[in-house]
Amino acid sequence: MARAAESASYDDKNEISMGTAQESVLMQWMRALVEIESPSDDKSAVNRCVETAAEMAASLGGRVRRHRQRQYGDVLELRFGPRSKHTQPVMLLGHLDTVWPLGTLRTMPFRVAEGRVWGPGTLDMKAGVAMGLAAIGALREADALRRPVTFLLSSDEEVGSEVSRPITEKLARESKAVFVLEPAQGLSGAYKTARKGVGGYTVRVRGVAAHAGVDFERGHSAIHELAWQLEKVRGFTELERGLTVNAGVVRGGTRSNVIAAEAEAEIDVRIGRARDAARIERRFRRLRARDGGCVLQVEGGMNRPPMERTRATVALYRRAATIAAQMGFDLAEASTGGGSDGNFTAALGVPTLDGMGAVGEGAHATHESVLVKDLMPRTVLLAAMIRTT
Ligand SMILES: [Zn+2]
Repeated sequence: MARAAESASYDDKNEISMGTAQESVLMQWMRALVEIESPSDDKSAVNRCVETAAEMAASLGGRVRRHRQRQYGDVLELRFGPRSKHTQPVMLLGHLDTVWPLGTLRTMPFRVAEGRVWGPGTLDMKAGVAMGLAAIGALREADALRRPVTFLLSSDEEVGSEVSRPITEKLARESKAVFVLEPAQGLSGAYKTARKGVGGYTVRVRGVAAHAGVDFERGHSAIHELAWQLEKVRGFTELERGLTVNAGVVRGGTRSNVIAAEAEAEIDVRIGRARDAARIERRFRRLRARDGGCVLQVEGGMNRPPMERTRATVALYRRAATIAAQMGFDLAEASTGGGSDGNFTAALGVPTLDGMGAVGEGAHATHESVLVKDLMPRTVLLAAMIRTT
């Protein structure tokens, strides 16, 4: 039974269990991954982390394939278990890049205190990577790794997954189910059965500059035009559909006594339903300048489709909740406005369950941390999910 951090097991013929030895390996792996800083925009830094993860996988008998990248770190494809061509693999999905720049460890070192593991990228999501590897280790020790497992670690998730997306989608298409090792939701650690789709637009206005005192009537203000457009864009939000629009960045103008020649806004879009992508796209493309002296330019579009709460995903969640109950804890489900690579796999119709990584809080924030007590039970649960798929 799951008793804090002492041990964890899944009672289906008592096959899968973890004790203190496995826990210390898991902690070592987490530490090693966290202490190799890996910001998405630093290719060689991410590749150092890729190297280490590949070595860990190899120590578990994993077959390693590196998809070399030019701009970002390499995408790491790991294969475990039988090489059967007839059995569909289970896919584990994660990423090795973080939002933290090099040098963050100086002020946010890896440390274990107050029942938590702290450090940049612990929760999002190096703990999840270590848990995925440890789950495979536990299955191997129990001789229960009967279905092939594909573990894909991307290198550009925090910046939109542009290069890893086609690899993720290709491997997902051949898989029976996708388990995403992103953090669970909240400190109760709910699994995620729905995620919003994410998009971004830039609205740019070119106006005509003029002296605000001397030549007021000759000017066409890009700022006032943009302000008017932003009011319009605000009206695109439809909360009851789960559709939200937020202008998060605005730039423009030079001085208060100059009628602004340029202004632009960066706008974040979230959709709950796939069919709303076309609706929001249409609305942005229909924006027209109100001031005839201004020119409007709209760029962008949807980046990640929503992960909708499908029947197949709910079935995966229910199976997980049943196993969790047998192990002695409650497992809730949740939806979130944030996107992950699970959005891509779910949109292909492949049953996808997300939030199967660590429990903690503070992703992308200085108090980023993972609860120690949940590490082993969640790892055993993950192993049991692989085992029962
Ligand atoms: Zn993440």
